[in-house]
Amino acid sequence: MGEGIKDSKVNNSMDYLRTEYVKKAKKQYYCDGCLLLINAFGKDNVKKELSPEDLVIYEKLELNDFKIKVGNSYMKIVGVYDGNIYTSRFCNEEIYKIAEKHDCFDNY
Ligand SMILES: [Zn+2]
Repeated sequence: MGEGIKDSKVNNSMDYLRTEYVKKAKKQYYCDGCLLLINAFGKDNVKKELSPEDLVIYEKLELNDFKIKVGNSYMKIVGVYDGNIYTSRFCNEEIYKIAEKHDCFDNY
């Protein structure tokens, strides 16, 4: 996972999106990717929905209670939708992609 900032315009409902790779978390955060997956499938079922490769990634994050801890690197996305700013944080790019693959952002 590289460091840096990437700006992009994704679709019409989204005015602006910035992806940033933060090297060291200054605070502790819950990971939105893990939480979206748990919310989408339920804590007891989420593991059944993941491919074996994705399950390995998920179970590693589970050991940290799905938290981004102080000092950890993480992926931050800032989006502007209809003039409102939304920030989401992810343990890593992999869990972001897994959540995306399972359409977790549809009602987000
Ligand atoms: Zn996570």
